[in-house]
Amino acid sequence: MPRDAGGTSETSLGQRGEELRSCIRFVLVMAVFVPPAIAQGKADRSKSTDLIECSVTSEQLDKLNGSPAELVLANGKRIKDVTIVKFVRGSNKDAVRTVVYRRPKRKTASRLRAGALVRIVAAERAYDLVAVPALKGWMLVDVDEKTKVVSARLKAKGRHVWPELSADQQADAVREQKKFLAGVRQKFSGLPLRLYETKFFLFLTDMPAAQIGVYIAHLDNMSVELGKRFGVPPGENIWRGKAVFVVFVNQPSFVQFETNVMNMSPASTNRKQGICHQDNRNGDVIVACHRGNDPHYFAQVLVHETTHGYLHRFKSSARIPSWLNEGIAEWVSTIVVRSSRAPLKRQADAVLRLKQTGVVGPSFFGKKIESWHYGVASRITDSMITQNSRAFGAWIVSIKEGVEWSQGLQKTFGVTPQQLLLRYGRSIGVPMIRLQ
Ligand SMILES: [Zn+2]
Repeated sequence: MPRDAGGTSETSLGQRGEELRSCIRFVLVMAVFVPPAIAQGKADRSKSTDLIECSVTSEQLDKLNGSPAELVLANGKRIKDVTIVKFVRGSNKDAVRTVVYRRPKRKTASRLRAGALVRIVAAERAYDLVAVPALKGWMLVDVDEKTKVVSARLKAKGRHVWPELSADQQADAVREQKKFLAGVRQKFSGLPLRLYETKFFLFLTDMPAAQIGVYIAHLDNMSVELGKRFGVPPGENIWRGKAVFVVFVNQPSFVQFETNVMNMSPASTNRKQGICHQDNRNGDVIVACHRGNDPHYFAQVLVHETTHGYLHRFKSSARIPSWLNEGIAEWVSTIVVRSSRAPLKRQADAVLRLKQTGVVGPSFFGKKIESWHYGVASRITDSMITQNSRAFGAWIVSIKEGVEWSQGLQKTFGVTPQQLLLRYGRSIGVPMIRLQ
């Protein structure tokens, strides 16, 4: 396939990056984890706190009554210096429906729906609110406890939570990225390379200025669509500094950039239209592409590759498995770049092949999928998001919190990888589909 047949690459850019030494604080973005037992309303009420990791029990909630607190609302506003009066519960005593609090020097108490809040800092401890629809309430998750559990789980896998960066650290990162791009301009002084800067992107290209806007709009839409699924509010920067793009009009310049600047082998670049470089140490993302002659196809490749960068940079360095990473990249590029038919054609080609062979091949759930697998991955991803977008988001968050993807799949969708494949097989008229 004359594009990103090899999937993501993890080229180390560490020489440019400084080790970040700021303290690691894991910001939970309203992780909505709904295990099937809870989703179906079958939860044993005494066990509800076992199902939401690091959630607070009814007794612990009662102990917070009378505590000084700060409330953080879903719209980003904060209500400071209040006192918790009580947490109103429903039939399940661990699940909060309403928070009753008192402002200073006020005689009457105020009330807020738990759903309007994302975090409560009470008695100097932070709690995130996690929706549990079947309990018709929200559970409080102890942020420090959860951070410890998640960090330990990730550390055991050689992964880590991306640190939260201060405004100064972000500005330093952008300066460093611009310096890198200035170096690229020098190396390609024969090309009319220009830098376009937006809130989240640094886009260096020799394309005519009039062509840039539509691609930037696609990238903005991609951020919104992914953010919707993963609980990242629009306007929140997930990148270290900004996402960096180096886009050439012609293929030879792209290959030259990949081989001379990014130290890739010519063999690994010459059949690709785009590559997403992801730094494992600091989370930097550089997407390099060449435009080629089909603007719709290029738009799809650009969004596809950038999605890999987003998934790398979201929450932690934990890896999303190859098939799912490609599936999400194809899914989002299809809904953002409506003019490109390429992902749908790949889905149809995969169906044709499977109707003849019935065999997907063991590499599908392996380290790197084959090029024809893209159509399988994207159709499975599409159907999961359509079936339950919230569970899908919770699944991705759990993978980023260090949970094994197949375990997370079982908890969120209640199926094994094998069952997922069988369901796909049935949906395309290949009921006897086999992995090998
Ligand atoms: Zn890819």
